[in-house]
Amino acid sequence: MPENHAPLGIYLHIPYCPAKCRYCDFFSRPGCRVVPQDYCDALVRELCKNNCRPDTLYFGGGTPALLSPAQAAQLIEAADPLPGAEITLEANPDVVTLETLRGFRTAGVTRISFGVQSANDAQLRRLGRTHTAAGAAQALQWAVEAGFAEICGDIMLALPGYTNAEFDRTLALLKAGGCTHISAYLLKIEPGTAFSKNPPADLPDGDAAADFYLYAVGRLEEEGYPQYEISNFAKPEHRGRHNLLYWDCRDYLGLGPAAHSCLNNLRSFWPAGPGAVEAFIAGTLALEAEGVCDAGDYLMLRLRLRDGLDLAQYSTRFGGTLNAQQMEFIRHCVAAGYAEFDGQVLRLTPRGLLVQNGIVSELMANE
Ligand code: SF4
Repeated sequence: MPENHAPLGIYLHIPYCPAKCRYCDFFSRPGCRVVPQDYCDALVRELCKNNCRPDTLYFGGGTPALLSPAQAAQLIEAADPLPGAEITLEANPDVVTLETLRGFRTAGVTRISFGVQSANDAQLRRLGRTHTAAGAAQALQWAVEAGFAEICGDIMLALPGYTNAEFDRTLALLKAGGCTHISAYLLKIEPGTAFSKNPPADLPDGDAAADFYLYAVGRLEEEGYPQYEISNFAKPEHRGRHNLLYWDCRDYLGLGPAAHSCLNNLRSFWPAGPGAVEAFIAGTLALEAEGVCDAGDYLMLRLRLRDGLDLAQYSTRFGGTLNAQQMEFIRHCVAAGYAEFDGQVLRLTPRGLLVQNGIVSELMANE
């Protein structure tokens, strides 16, 4: 790779799912068992307009595991990733078989990411998930058999009636299944979801949710998955390279309705909503501009990472500096246990990451 190579990530949105999970506000069409070929052809059409080979390729959704291995191969070939590229595909445990996982691996997928969420079947039913804990364990075992060296699992925290024991059982399932990377998210009730219309009973309050998060961070660390981002934890050398491009304000190209791009610090997105899939297939969906990625975005995104914000990089890449008021606020954050600062790099602690939005807002307000 040439030294001056600017890394590029490509995201492909696959907006089809077997069913709609009750908490989900992602743009996806439920009731699907396959991905229509004309949608893949539209992605190929857009990929062919790009002439820069990506370092990472990410199939997100939706449920990208509804693609056939042949469709995944078609899309990977059109994306033309660099040798050694990370190629991730999101999957639901009940959508894959050993055969399809082997097919994805042969197609070039290097990293498989399962939405496991919980090891409690009653909880999974409450969330509207269509798999069981046993199904998740089976899918993870098949991923190992299919030859995946990078296996990811998602866990949702602070679910209705949640306990640390439910977290421990879910973590044990993922660890035993060979996961190299774990994402752990707090449940958020998003507008427009089934949960927003009929909220589940027995939801933990904000303080309890914060305790579940801090418990999860500690247990993941103990089990060999140190935190590297607010919601992401990985064994050494297994961090997700694609999402790290987002958090370091690098270039990424998103294709498909609801996909976002940032190229040369200019942001844009494909609109989602009724008719967006048909318009994307027809080639009539217009990309919308979303503004510029600036020093504030870099500060906000870098403070999601445990590696933090390096002030020299902040200055070199975006001309950013911290003024006296901001430094005073940072001293308060350090004293309160929310941050660490060695004069060069500002890092939020797990307690600080819990209130990262508030810390960033305060820093921006004092710009
Ligand atoms: S959470 Fe995932 S599987 Fe469930 S509806 Fe949303 S995109 Fe589909």
